[in-house]
Formats: sequence, structure tokens, C-alpha cells
Amino acid sequence: MQLTRKGLWEGVIRGYREFLPRVNDESIVTLKEGNTPLIEAVNLKDILGDIRLLLKYEGVNPTGSFKDRGMTMAVSGAKQEGSQAVICASTGNTSASAAAYAAKASMKAFVLVPEGAIAKGKLSQAMMHGAMVLEVKGSFDEALAIVIEITANYPVTMVNSLNPLRIEGQKTAAFEVCEHLGHAPTYHFIPVGNAGNITAYWKGYKEYRSKGITSNLPKMMGFQAEGAAPIVRGEPVTDPRTVASAIRIGNPASWKGALEARDESEGTIDMVSDEEILEAYGLLSSREGVFCEPASAASLAGVIKKKKEDVLSDGDTVVCTLTGHGLKDPDIAIETAREPVKVAADIDKIVEVMGF
Ligand SMILES: *Cc1c(COP(=O)(O)O)cnc(C)c1O
Repeated sequence: MQLTRKGLWEGVIRGYREFLPRVNDESIVTLKEGNTPLIEAVNLKDILGDIRLLLKYEGVNPTGSFKDRGMTMAVSGAKQEGSQAVICASTGNTSASAAAYAAKASMKAFVLVPEGAIAKGKLSQAMMHGAMVLEVKGSFDEALAIVIEITANYPVTMVNSLNPLRIEGQKTAAFEVCEHLGHAPTYHFIPVGNAGNITAYWKGYKEYRSKGITSNLPKMMGFQAEGAAPIVRGEPVTDPRTVASAIRIGNPASWKGALEARDESEGTIDMVSDEEILEAYGLLSSREGVFCEPASAASLAGVIKKKKEDVLSDGDTVVCTLTGHGLKDPDIAIETAREPVKVAADIDKIVEVMGF
């Protein structure tokens, strides 16, 4: 038998070169991000009827979130320019991703996170990848404002989604969805925090259509958490609160991009409660075998809400982006799931507990 090299994935820059700004080969920094599965949900019919639901599981990216798609572009761009260091403000996943890609590029990473407000998995990643982690006594929004000031005055490249290369890399997820389905979905549901990702998906869908690769566009359905829903409320939220720490943002940088995605696609930006988020989070892991972090489940919570409102119909193809892996936030998982049963090391007791 011959060992053949079939379909090996080389990361989003090499995979989608002709759709991305040019990066020299020697500047490409990749951990082979992207090419994530689109998983058909099959056990939610009692709630969703006959809509076709697909889960774009971004938790299987190298650092466990979609941020890697943008980070490969942003860090490669920094390297190409000869930059020695990157900086970001983060609710957690951007810091994990920036730290990993900077390590791969042998660059320094500075990450500013709101003190005590990021999930343990994410903090552990930034620390292990050797970033300088600065826990700021303030919100994400304050940290981002500081990062913007610093990059204007010091030789360090900003890798937040205000860096346009981040959006470029992230749009590749929309390409993959189209390739998997053979067309764009009817609806695309996505959590909205700083609003870079909804902006990126919409850009990706539009590019595939304008190049004639697809002939349709989805309606973009963005979901914020009720306690952190500046776009829905039409004004910044000074003290954003939600269990979904990845979208705990009061003044999104890509606010305008989110509104454009909503308006051009005739979609919506709406909100879901923490209770709805946690319910969807539990359904995804217990019924579909897909463990995502709480913020990711805002997309399914949005689908459930829109199904109840009769916005969705049987036969619609609905894609949910599940933005990050459930292991990122073990504390919330353990707080919300059924507790383990403590039992003696005794076969009779164990079998009894098992219900046999
Ligand atoms: C960053 C992030 C979001 C929010 O994405 P934006 O581009 O900031 O809107 C949602 N979920 C997870 C897990 C994230 O890491």
C-alpha cells in the first residue's frame, strides 16, 4: 500500500491564499488553524422541529477558539513588518491565541485582561505560552482603550480585531461553511461581543457571493447577553454583566460592522438571558456531544428564541458558530452540570447507584 498525502490542511493562510492579503511564505505563522467541522445537530427536534441545524465548532482550533483564524493573519502580518511584539486586550481567548502565535513566531506578547474576569482555561494558556499577562483593575473596554493608546506610541503591534488582518483571517470560517453546505445557509447565528466575528463572517459570505462561488447570502443573526447588550440597547453599557465572560463587552469595537451585517443581510442583533445561554450550553453538551463555552451557546439560545418567535421555519438551514471550547471555562461547567455521585469502592453500592 502506498502512503498518500491526501487533503492535509496547512492553516487558513495557505488554504485561502487568493482571498487574503499577501503574506510572504517566510512570514507565515500558523498552528494549522481552521478547517473545523460543521456538525449536524440531530437531537433537538423536540425544540427546533424540522429546521436543519449545523454547528460550526470553532472550539477545535489550536488554542480552542475561532480567534486563531484571525491571529495567524495578525501575527504573520506583524512578523512581515519586522515587529518584535504584539499586544491585545482580551476577555480571554484573544490573549490565549495571541500568546500561542507569538510564541510560535518567537515574539513577545503583552496581554491585558480584566482582573478576575477571565475563565481559568484561557488564563492558563496565556501564562503557559509565556505572555506577559497584565491583570487590569478595570473592564475589557478600559483595557482596550489603553491598548489603543500604547500601540499609537510604542513599537508593538495590536492584535485585537481592530487590526483588519484579524477580520480577514476570521472571514475564512464563512468560506468553510459554504464549502461544507455547497451554498450559504438561510440563517447564521453567532454570539456578539466586540463584534469582530459577525463582521468577518459577513465579509466572507459577501466575498464568496461576489466571486460567484455561492449564489445566496444568509441572514446574520447576532446575539448578545442581556446584561452586555450595547448594540441591542443602542448605547454603551458601562458595567456589562453576564456569565458568558467572552462576550462581557460594553462598547464593541466593531459596532458599525455588526450593524452593517444586520442591515445588509436583513438579519437581527438581539439578546438572550444568562438562563437561556446556560440552557443552550447544557443542551449542546448533553444532547449533541459538543462542549462549547457559555458565550458560544448564545448562538443556539438565539436559535431557540427565534424558533419560539416563529421566525424560523421547517426546512431552513441554520448554522450556529460555537466560538470556543467548553474546557476553557471548567468553573461554569462544574457549577451548572449534575454533580458526580460519591460512592464507596464497593461493587454492590455502585451497581445500585447505576440503577441496575
Ligand atoms: C471573542 C469571542 C466571542 C466574541 O466575538 P467578537 O468577535 O468579539 O464578537 C464569542 N465567543 C468566544 C468564545 C470568544 O472567544
